[in-house]
Amino acid sequence: MKTDYQIAVLPGDGIGREVMTAADHILDATQARIGVKFHLNYLPAGAQHYLESGVALPDSTLTACDRADAILFGAMGLPHVRGADGTEIIPQLDLRFHFDLYAGVRPIRTFQGLHTPLASPKASEIDLVLVRESTEGLFYARGRGETRPDGVYDTMQITHKGTRRICEFAFKLAEQRALKRNRQARVTNVDKANVFASMALWRSIFEDVASKYPKVSADSAYVDAMALNLVMKPWTYDVLVTENMFGDILSDLIAALVGGMGMAPSADLGDKHGLFQPAHGTAPDIAGEGKANPTAMLLSTGMMLEWLGHRHADARLIDAAAMIDEAVEHVFASGQVRPFEFGGGHGTVEITRAVIAAMKAKG
Ligand code: ATP
Repeated sequence: MKTDYQIAVLPGDGIGREVMTAADHILDATQARIGVKFHLNYLPAGAQHYLESGVALPDSTLTACDRADAILFGAMGLPHVRGADGTEIIPQLDLRFHFDLYAGVRPIRTFQGLHTPLASPKASEIDLVLVRESTEGLFYARGRGETRPDGVYDTMQITHKGTRRICEFAFKLAEQRALKRNRQARVTNVDKANVFASMALWRSIFEDVASKYPKVSADSAYVDAMALNLVMKPWTYDVLVTENMFGDILSDLIAALVGGMGMAPSADLGDKHGLFQPAHGTAPDIAGEGKANPTAMLLSTGMMLEWLGHRHADARLIDAAAMIDEAVEHVFASGQVRPFEFGGGHGTVEITRAVIAAMKAKG
């Protein structure tokens, strides 16, 4: 059985660096317990690195990521650091395209002990995952905007292959979640098929894939209606699948439902590589203050262990992922810590310490 795992670590900028320390500590605490060794290879990339070197994502970093078993990513980009066309330095997008990380997996759930902005008691039942297509859609236009005399034109790309593989990914994920949770699997497609030909194609492919998974309930909604429904009744959804730009926007919306960006982990998965990062950005407004909530980073680290565990048939890693999840649940449910995001007074260090102590206490 594999005993050594190589992890490419890209802390990036702002609070990305701060929450990466939390991931480092939890992996350290985990490896001793389960008898594996995580080799963390810290690599340069990001807006600050661009300022210092003129390169946002060095080739050497890409090569090291390619060779690693998994990639752990903090956050990158600073508002005042811009490329020649005025856009921010966002190497995470380059990594998605370079490694064909087509499935952006963004799970959210409410944690006992932490309030949500929704008044309904049903909000305690929120447990859904947004699957965002991450290699085409409107983001295809990045770096390709066409300047014409009357303005700039950005094109959305929806391909047969790209749509089919993300829909299949969503149905398989729904099956796995249903097994784990002992409930009916459901996938809801989010599009704008009433307006765009590209989205009409997307929906027809979704429906074709759905017909191959008769045990999974499948339905579709327009993205505008979904923005409403996600606030009115998010507890009714299980797996959502959507185009890149819609997914970008709805990811932040669903994070808000459970209290803020610091609670939203994510994975960017391809057929060969997996990158794991909190769904939040570099949060320049709180960077350097120690106030960043590391929960999203810790849960993303758990997602990495689960993914690695399945990939290498290593049950120790799957158990470790569950252990991190339980420890996070415990520290909030018991009221030991409350993040600044929730009006509390506990920052990155205190929350990380509490989660590690909860893991240790489990024996
Ligand atoms: P990006 O465009 O890079 O995704 P963004 O503009 O959406 O970033 P974030 O950096 O995610 O912005 O921050 C949005 C808000 O959420 C900010 O007020 C920030 O302070 C807060 N925030 C983000 N992450 C955390 C965290 N881990 N802990 C506490 N607050 C956070």
